[in-house]
Order: sequence, then structure tokens, then C-alpha cells
Amino acid sequence: MTPWFDPSLVFIGGAWRAPACGDTLPVINPSTGAEIARIARGTRADIDAAVTAAETAMAGEWGALPAFARGRILARLGQLILDHIDPLTAMEAADVGKPLTQARNDVIAMARYCEFYAGAADKLMGETIPFQNGFTVYTLREPHGVTGHIVPWNYPMQIIGRSVGAALAAGNACVLKPAEEACLTALAFADLARQAGLPPGALNVVPGLGAEAGAALTAHPGIRHISFTGSVATGRKVQAAAAENVVPVTLELGGKSPQLVFADADLDAALPYLVNAGIQNAGQTCSASSRILVEQSIYAEVCDRMAAAYRGLSVGPATADLRVGPLISARQKGIVERYLAMADPAHIIARGQLAPDLPEGGHYISPALIAGPGPDHVLAQEEIFGPVQIILPFVDEADAIRIANGTAYGLVASVWSRDGGRQMRLAKALRAGQVFLNNYGAAGGVELPFGGTGLSGHGREKGFEALYAMTGLKTVAALHG
Ligand code: NDP
Repeated sequence: MTPWFDPSLVFIGGAWRAPACGDTLPVINPSTGAEIARIARGTRADIDAAVTAAETAMAGEWGALPAFARGRILARLGQLILDHIDPLTAMEAADVGKPLTQARNDVIAMARYCEFYAGAADKLMGETIPFQNGFTVYTLREPHGVTGHIVPWNYPMQIIGRSVGAALAAGNACVLKPAEEACLTALAFADLARQAGLPPGALNVVPGLGAEAGAALTAHPGIRHISFTGSVATGRKVQAAAAENVVPVTLELGGKSPQLVFADADLDAALPYLVNAGIQNAGQTCSASSRILVEQSIYAEVCDRMAAAYRGLSVGPATADLRVGPLISARQKGIVERYLAMADPAHIIARGQLAPDLPEGGHYISPALIAGPGPDHVLAQEEIFGPVQIILPFVDEADAIRIANGTAYGLVASVWSRDGGRQMRLAKALRAGQVFLNNYGAAGGVELPFGGTGLSGHGREKGFEALYAMTGLKTVAALHG
């Protein structure tokens, strides 16, 4: 896996250049622990240059492009991403540890975001408002200007697609700070955007440390909107920085998302979703389903069937393309192990299988299914961000709602039941930004607004809602008699 660009550079004003401080950071393959490349250590000076380049783009060629022309560039970018599906898949697998099939799906998702926002760019409209006689009143949706994008390491391609894709479609110029642990596909995206004809400065990518480049970006007075996906702790810092400059911020901070399984559910249909939603990307998914809530009368059966599925899970290097890859880092593995140490060993009812001859430096953990702790236990309350699921019984619908809504988070939830009335009641009662009925995740759904409530954050990404968030609304009132 050798990128076709030099990953030790930053991308500013449409050109590659060395970072101002001259330093680089290692890129570690989570499957092996080996260093596979160096990335730039961007700092405040690079962020300053990137914001200036973005402001210049807004005042120049990029800012003058009509909406359909922005869409055309995004369409070309989507096609270029698909044309590069093999190198992008290999790059993401090596950088993030994703099994090849999952990495490939992320490439396709990134292309889908570009396609969706390409088509949406010239369909973002204001409205006319009936008002007093003698007036004509209408609204304009205008880009914020320069937008900041801070992306985590778990789904870099999907999150760049949904956040930068929407911002560019709406006519903003972007400064992107990818996670230091997952920069390669962000840099590839920048190079493909250049090839697609994106004018210089419309997209700038500055890798670096969160506390340096990330903090400099969120505090920069030239940034007019911030999109952040990551931890609650960092999200609080980002929101505080945005408050200083009084700019809007979209926060997507993860969750403790439940699947509710009622006795009338089609268990054969549910079972693959129950397990996969917990172990996909080794559980490092903001919308992972880490709690399975099961009606008492089928609780033992669901525990048995999920346990059997867990025992069939295999864990190995990304290139082996098994169901579960490594965790992103030794630090993340340590976090998950500390949570597992809080479980009563008797409550761990099944583990997955580690493949033989795993590379020694990889960050592997065997998926764990836990039944026994109550809904208030730390394992049932906090986001673990690893392949760990908790099964909890409930007695009736009211009890299910109480447990489902009983954490500080509210990102997504699903309901497995054949009862249409129950589906409708629960869709309203569950505290979540997305509710799935007899499925989980709706296959990613680039068209579907996504975001949370409570500690899961605020604001919506994906679909048209993200486009609205990437604009400011201006009301024009003309008095003409
Ligand atoms: P962070 O929230 O710290 O990182 C997310 C992004 O924020 C990264 O790009 C990071 O850069 C950047 N960042 C870090 N500090 C700052 C700062 N002060 N100002 C601006 N940006 C900053 O998550 P971690 O990688 O530390 O992971 C810790 C935990 O966060 C995980 O265990 C998991 O629970 C949760 N998490 C949730 C995600 C989600 O999808 N909701 C995604 C990732 C993590 P850099 O990485 O270079 O430091």
C-alpha cells in the first residue's frame, strides 16, 4: 500500500506543501503495529494558511461558481473515488485496520455522498413568504463561508463524504483536520478533488494533532461553522471554542444505542442485525448497537442464539477480511479491556475467536457478549467503543422504553416487532435521532438525516438537513407599493 501522493505534506490552496514546523507523525497499521508512512504534523501556522486560502477561494473562482457547476465537480469527484476503489480500500484497510469488505463499503459510501450532494447542489432553495400588501418577501440560503471539519478515525471516508460533501455543495470552502490516526484517505480525497477540478482553496486538508491543529482550527476567528464527530470530552472543547467566536457547530458524539426485541419479532431476520450492529468496525461505530433489550419470554433464546453467533465470529488482520479487524490503537484496546475488566466473568456468555498466528503488534480483542448486569451498570451506560454488547431483559413495552431511554445518550434505536401499533408508539417514545423498525442502520442511508440528542450531540448530518445546516438563511423584504 503506497499512496499515489506524498502523505507527509499538507494540502493548502490547491497545492501540496511541507508543514510549517517541518515535523511528521507516524502512520501505524493497526493490524501489525508497523509504521507504514509519515503524515505532516500541521500546526497553527498551517491552519492559518488554510483558512486564508479558503477565504481567497470564497472571494474568487470558487465563490463565483453557480450551484450546478459545484454539483458537476462533486459528480466528477464521486466517479474518481469509484475509479480508485482498489487503492482507497487498501489504504483504509492498512491505515484504520478495517477488514477489506468494510473498507470497500466505506469507499462506496464516500462516492455516494458526493453523488447525492452533486445532485442536491442546485436544489437548495429559499422560499417566498406571503406578507403585507406592497411587500415581496423571500429567503436566500447562503453559504457560511469557511467551514471547519474535524473528523475521527473510525469512519474517515464516510464522515468526510457527509460533512465536506454537504459543505462544498452549499458553496462553502472547507478546512479539514482528519484524525492523526487516520489521515491517508482524507489526503487522497483532497487529491481526487483537485483532479475533479475543484478550484484551489475550496478544500484544504491539514493533518496533525488534535490539541494542536484541531484546537487551532476550532478557535480560528475565520471559521464560520464547525462540524465535529468524536468523543463527548473533545466535543465539549469544540463547542466551547465555537462559543468564543459565536459560530454554529454540529456535534456527533456517539451513543449507547439499543435494539428492542419483542416476543412477536421475526428472530431469524433480527439476529444478523443484532450481532452485526455491535461488531461492525470492531464496535468502533458511533451508532453501534451496544445494548440489546429483549422481552423476558424470549430472553434466554436470544441469549443462546446471539452467543452461538459470537462463537462463530473470527478476528484477524484487515487483509484477511474476517468479520472483525483490530482496534485502531493500543490506547483504544486498553480502554476496551478496562471496561471488560468491570464485568463479572460469569456474565460474559460468549467470545469470538482470535485467528491463529495474529501479528504480534496488532491491537486485537475478542468480541464479548455480556448478559447479567442491570441497566444502570457502567457497561450498560457508557460508550465502550469496542466489540462488546450487553443483553438486558425487559418485562413490557413501558419497561423497554424506560431502559432504552435510560442513558445520557440518544443517537439511534431500533424496534423488532410485527405489531404496527407498537412500532408507531415506540418510534415516538424512543429518545434518538433515528429509529429503525425491523432493521438497523438502513444500510447507511446517505439521504437520511442523522444526529443525536443528549450526550450524542446536536445538529443533523446527511440528506438535505446537512445542506441546510451548511447555510445561513437571509430574509429579503422588498417594499414596492
Ligand atoms: P477525539 O474526540 O479526541 O478525536 C476526534 C477528533 O477530534 C480527531 O480528529 C482528533 O484529532 C480531534 N481533536 C482532539 N482534540 C481536539 C481539540 N482539543 N480540538 C479540536 N479537535 C480535537 O476521540 P479519540 O480519538 O481520542 O477517541 C476517544 C474516544 O472517543 C473513543 O474511545 C470513543 O469513545 C470516542 N469516539 C467517538 C467517535 C464517534 O464516532 N462518535 C469517533 C472517535 C472516537 P487527533 O485524533 O489527531 O487527536
